[in-house]
Amino acid sequence: MQELTHWIDGKHVKGTSGRFTDVYNPATGEVQAKVPLATVEELNAAVARAAEAQVAWGDTNPQRRARVMMKFGALINEHMDELAELVSREHGKTLPDGRGDVQRGLEVVEVCMGGPSLLKGEYTDAGGPGIDLYSMRQPLGVVAGITPFNFPAMIPLWKLAPALTCGNAMILKPSERCPSTSLRLAELLQEAGLPDGVLQVVNGDKEVVDAILDNETVAGVGFVGSTPIAQYIYGRAATNGKRAQCFGGAKNHMIIMPDADMDKAADALVGAGFGAAGERCMAISVAVPVGKETADTLVEKLMPRIEKLKVGPYTAGDDVDYGPVITQAAKDRILGLIDKGVAQGADLVVDGRDFTLQGYENGYFVGPSMFDNVTPDMDIYKEEIFGPVLSQVRTDSYEEALKLTMDNPYGNGTAIFTADGDTARDFAHRVNVGMVGINFPIPVPLSYHTFGGWKKSAFGDLNQYGPDAFRFYTKTKTVTARWFSGIKEGGEFNFKAME
Ligand code: NAD
Repeated sequence: MQELTHWIDGKHVKGTSGRFTDVYNPATGEVQAKVPLATVEELNAAVARAAEAQVAWGDTNPQRRARVMMKFGALINEHMDELAELVSREHGKTLPDGRGDVQRGLEVVEVCMGGPSLLKGEYTDAGGPGIDLYSMRQPLGVVAGITPFNFPAMIPLWKLAPALTCGNAMILKPSERCPSTSLRLAELLQEAGLPDGVLQVVNGDKEVVDAILDNETVAGVGFVGSTPIAQYIYGRAATNGKRAQCFGGAKNHMIIMPDADMDKAADALVGAGFGAAGERCMAISVAVPVGKETADTLVEKLMPRIEKLKVGPYTAGDDVDYGPVITQAAKDRILGLIDKGVAQGADLVVDGRDFTLQGYENGYFVGPSMFDNVTPDMDIYKEEIFGPVLSQVRTDSYEEALKLTMDNPYGNGTAIFTADGDTARDFAHRVNVGMVGINFPIPVPLSYHTFGGWKKSAFGDLNQYGPDAFRFYTKTKTVTARWFSGIKEGGEFNFKAME
């Protein structure tokens, strides 16, 4: 069985802790590799080496750092299929979805190629007599990225590309479920010209995360994962004086107005609810139709579409709609929540619980399920299911649908489907959610905007990628400079012989 490594000082390094965790093929349930779980000592040594390497990297001209991103972007393109396969092999998502995972990360690398323009400082000429002020953006030093399983390429790239472009060194701690893509990205970065030690990939679990949070040299932490862990990491990092931005879970609502194009709304819901087996923080998990007729029509249109979904391994080709969930534990949890939904009185109009796939009986496949008549007190509404389960909550008015969305503790993404510009505008203006789609189900902003939720979907300041990332990964230093007048009059300007 393959034994994975850490990536330290430009080399694959075996773990020394003796502790490993299994990396599964979610389609078959087989263990395909084991990944080492680092100790506090291994982490501290990786940070110390990163701190040494950061000095020269931070002093490298911004345009030279950007050139590393240019080469890195070209290499990602060149290795697109290989990277997508790495993603799909450990995560289970389809190959087109694996490519999308790499592509949406690559787009952040592309913005970083123009990073120097985002690193420019500010200047005030003659702020006082003989006094000028200027501000510069300097790297934090060593920062850490702690990432989830569900986007093994995209989220590590969202973290490392801006952090490195700003002149930081980074400790990347990928999910122990899908670590291989990060190790491969580190190799490609070396090929692109990144000096050794500037990116260290340290694999591990809670032990290494806590070691990062307690290491005094680590100046900033960017986290993505579930809400309880995001809140915990934010608290501990902030207590230890670190800059932190921690993005958490979601429960994304899509409002369907009576005037919406119902076929387009149904298509959007199927893609956004079941794509990647619902394992996206921007998945739509709650459909909120306004009015009985809208709700009835939606169920009528959704049921045949859901029943047609093809579930299978990524190796089965491009026409598979979604693959397995990540682990047996995730599958058991999802099935348990569906049982609870039934027990608590929701109508299970499509039941995916008994789904099996011939030849893949040990894989973590869950068939698509849909509930109607869900109410906010039910566990299937309150919890982030993170599986292929869509819940419909019926409402009688736009105001009720808006209030439901706003009262939900999460605030990552939301969408409205309507033909009325006034309603759409009102929704976008009033809703307390960070990313809003209008007739657009998964509104992940383009890489030159920024990504971030509100409420319990994010802790800390500033969003991921775009200009906000350049603010997060730099600190501002402001110089007030006075040059006394009269020196030029007193100077000697004649070329004199030495005496
Ligand atoms: P997770 O919280 O279990 O793990 C995320 C990271 O935290 C991993 O690297 C893991 O090793 C580490 N970790 C886990 N438990 C820990 C603990 N007790 N102490 C310290 N570190 C710990 O999340 P996941 O299951 O890998 O990912 C799915 C979650 O991520 C979902 O909730 C999803 O909504 C969320 N997510 C959010 C965004 C966003 O941008 N808001 C994007 C993608 C995923």
